[in-house]
Parts: sequence; structure tokens; C-alpha cells
Amino acid sequence: MLSPLATGISIGLGAAGAAGLAVGGYAYAAMWPASRIFGRPLLAPKRPGELALTFDDGPNPAWTPRLLEILASYDVRATFFMVGSHAQAEPELVRQIAAAGHLIGNHSWSHPNLAVTRASQVREELSRTSAVLEEITGKPVRFFRPPFGARRPYVLRAARELGMTPVLWNAMTSDWKEPSTEKIVARLTKTIDRNQRRGRATNIVLHDGNHMELAVFRGPSVAAAGQLLEHYKGTHRFVTVDAWSFERARL
Ligand SMILES: [Zn+2]
Repeated sequence: MLSPLATGISIGLGAAGAAGLAVGGYAYAAMWPASRIFGRPLLAPKRPGELALTFDDGPNPAWTPRLLEILASYDVRATFFMVGSHAQAEPELVRQIAAAGHLIGNHSWSHPNLAVTRASQVREELSRTSAVLEEITGKPVRFFRPPFGARRPYVLRAARELGMTPVLWNAMTSDWKEPSTEKIVARLTKTIDRNQRRGRATNIVLHDGNHMELAVFRGPSVAAAGQLLEHYKGTHRFVTVDAWSFERARL
């Protein structure tokens, strides 16, 4: 069965555009400052009932499969910002993630700090990653998360020139170095609930991989994702970040 994303693309209209039209997305988008729609990276919109689980630095053959099982058990789709070199090493896992309906984004080829990388090299990091991901999945890559959140203007411009919306986050903790699942969950829950009170959705970063190592231990991060799903399944809707892309050019 074709996912909504694939269907949207096949008729030349992004899934976010199709969804936006369906729920009157234009009026909603118009409430946003123009600079945020067209220039600034995507964080999280004024949709307090929505959560996006996003996973960086994979794919990870040791832990991403377990994460996929957990997401499937809740019938939830997530967003994976992949390191290009890891994707190239694990094409079957990338295919499996895409086939399960998850959204795959670009997280650069080798995870450098792009704020101190030459512009030509930035372009190479991004374009090489998109090329590999598109070759594996057969789908265009439309979202980019800069490693370490580095967002110099030329980095964001390079992403947009390659057809990608830059995506940051509004909930993160040091899950990659925190051994306690409970602490990860407690910190993220606090941030999610604060965003909720402020009328915002939450764009949550967890790490299913590590940019320096392919099969790193990610038990606490993966378990934290499961606990967040359990905690919020009755009150929130889990979305992929393309649900929040309101750029008029795509409508
Ligand atoms: Zn990263």
C-alpha cells in the first residue's frame, strides 16, 4: 500500500500540502510570521496536541530495528535524520524504515560542524547524503537537520537549494550520554508539558545512533521513546515533521 507521503509525491503535491489543504492549512500558515515560513528552520507549530518523535545519527543496526518494533506496536510514524555514511552502510535497514512509513531526513554525510565548514563542502555533505537516501528509498528527501544544530545562513540556504526544509527541535536532553531511561523521560516530559502550556507542539530529539560509530548502544534512548509513546498515546497525536511544513510553494 502506498503511504500518504508516496501518494502525495506521485501526484506532484507534497503530503504536507495535501494535508494542509484538507484541514484549511493556508489560513493556519498565514498566522505564522513570514520569516518563519520562508526563512527560519522548522521547530514546532502552535498545535499543542501534536508530538513529533525524531531520531538522529542513525541508522543503527544494533538498535534501530528494536525502535521500529516499538513504533509499530503503537502504530506511530517517526522522523529519522540519517547520517549519509551510515545509510550507505545499512541500505536494507534504510529501506525497512521507509517501508514502515517513517519519514527520512538528511543529517549530512559525516556529521561535521557545518558552521565551520566551507560552503562548497557543506553542499557536498548534503547533496551526497540526499543522493544516497533517494537511491535507496526512491523518494525525494525534503527535510534536513543540521548536525549540532549549526545553522549559519549559508547552511540553511544550501539545504533549501537542494529542496529541503531545515528542521531543528524544541525538546532535547543529553540522551546519548544518559544511562537512565527515567531521567531522559522525566526531562522530555517536563519540556513537552511546558510546550503544551504555551500552546506549542513538541519536536522531540532522541538518538538511535551515533555519528562516529555505526552500531552504538542506544538502549536508554529507545526505551525512552517507548515510554513517551505510552505516556502520551491517549492525549496526543504523533506526527512526522512533514505534517508541519506549510511553505506556500508546496501548496
Ligand atoms: Zn546528530
